[in-house]
Amino acid sequence: DNTINKIAAGEVIERPSSIVKELIENSIDANARNITIEIKDGGKNYIRITDDGDGIYKDDIQLAFLRHSTSKISKSEDLLKVHSLGFRGEALASISSISMVELISKTIDEETGIMVEIHGGILQQESEVGSPKGTTIIVRNIFYNTPVRKKFLRSDSAESANITNIINKLALSNTDISFNYIKDNKNMIKTPGNGDLKSTIFSIYGKEHTESLISINYSSDLFSINGYISKPLFNRGNRNYELFFVNGRYVNSKLLSKAIEEAYKTLITINRYPVVYLYIKVDPKNIDVNVHPSKVEIRFNDDLKLIPKVTDIVKNRLFEFNL
Ligand code: ADP
Ligand code: MG
Repeated sequence: DNTINKIAAGEVIERPSSIVKELIENSIDANARNITIEIKDGGKNYIRITDDGDGIYKDDIQLAFLRHSTSKISKSEDLLKVHSLGFRGEALASISSISMVELISKTIDEETGIMVEIHGGILQQESEVGSPKGTTIIVRNIFYNTPVRKKFLRSDSAESANITNIINKLALSNTDISFNYIKDNKNMIKTPGNGDLKSTIFSIYGKEHTESLISINYSSDLFSINGYISKPLFNRGNRNYELFFVNGRYVNSKLLSKAIEEAYKTLITINRYPVVYLYIKVDPKNIDVNVHPSKVEIRFNDDLKLIPKVTDIVKNRLFEFNL
């Protein structure tokens, strides 16, 4: 029933950036090496995601658009140990229920690809097409059939900013994938996809930014912490550049932010908030993750003493640099 899909879409799909996030995560799950994201008008009228991943078999294509249909879980206990990003099988069903979707996909095992067009959850056409291996999804006219929700969309520039933010975080959590971002016909970002964090940061934020960073490398039996922190004079007026990734995923953590800021407290800075890209690896049994469609809040087992350790590590590193 498409009404259910439309209602469910409200939980997953709040704005164009949620669509971009879900679709990129699908491409990542499909082992893509290159992902192109093109948007127009803040994503309201046009979002295209092209990947060179595994593709979808012709026989599975309609299934992919059904609610609660996912190829990523077969038993319910799998839910506890999912490694893939998507596991609810709701994104495609939700997105296609509130927009006009065109999907082209081809697997390595098939000679030809498949194209389907779905408007407001209803299949318009399906045909065999020529296509390279991988998947392209074009999403047009978001919320065209739910005008009330359409009214809640913000300006094109505000929606674009949200999308850019999501792409940056996904690119930084997947440095081995090349992200190519085109906005209103302009090339915005192309990350190298070579697994190197510094050149990925460079491709997103530029030279001045990259030169103001100090590397962090720490590991113990309990966890490892790698990445970069800023020289104090490069600090910022907001927390937008405090980025934390745990076991490969971007996370929110007030405690981590505070732990870092604490280390800068006694130093001369112009702005209050450091620029931080910290990658933490820890046994998943020591973390508590609260997954909400739009964000991931994380807490660490207190016994690890990870939070005070982060302050220590950053303090020591700044001290080494005489800062
Ligand atoms: P989920 O990601 O939670 O499984 P989705 O609705 O996002 O649910 O996707 C449904 C299914 O469609 C996926 O399980 C996957 O099999 C397939 N799929 C979606 N996007 C892609 C893609 N870019 N490449 C390959 N398969 C895809
Ligand atoms: Mg998904």
